[in-house]
Amino acid sequence: MGRKSTEQDEQYRDKLTPEQFAVTREAATEPPFSGAFYDHKGDGVYRCICCSAPLFDSNTKFDSGTGWPSFYAPLGEGGVRFEEDKSHFMTRTEVLCATCDAHLGHVFPDGPNPTGQRYCINSVALDFEARDDADDAERAERAGSAES
Ligand SMILES: [Zn+2]
Repeated sequence: MGRKSTEQDEQYRDKLTPEQFAVTREAATEPPFSGAFYDHKGDGVYRCICCSAPLFDSNTKFDSGTGWPSFYAPLGEGGVRFEEDKSHFMTRTEVLCATCDAHLGHVFPDGPNPTGQRYCINSVALDFEARDDADDAERAERAGSAES
């Protein structure tokens, strides 16, 4: 791993569990089927465990069968950023939180429609916030207009 722990990382050491710190600040990967969210079906927003920035919406979550939470798109524009990752003798695209540089996971070009992208994200990098009822109504409206 090419990632060095920085001063910015150190400020998260007290806030995070050792596993959260290893994944988000040192680019470790949690074991598959170990996290809280790979089979999580809740409706809401997944936020960065470090800085609480909203990163993924449950509407874009799909069951990839990999044992990690998977999304076909990030939430909004600019929430995540990308870096080429040549570790483990592969070239992959690393996904990071654009706000705090937390390592989140990787993105692969074998996802479902409409994007064809598969964001393979560590559960421990995420915090889930359930959507409240007001947002539910808004979402139903969006879904309705998308169908027409
Ligand atoms: Zn963050």
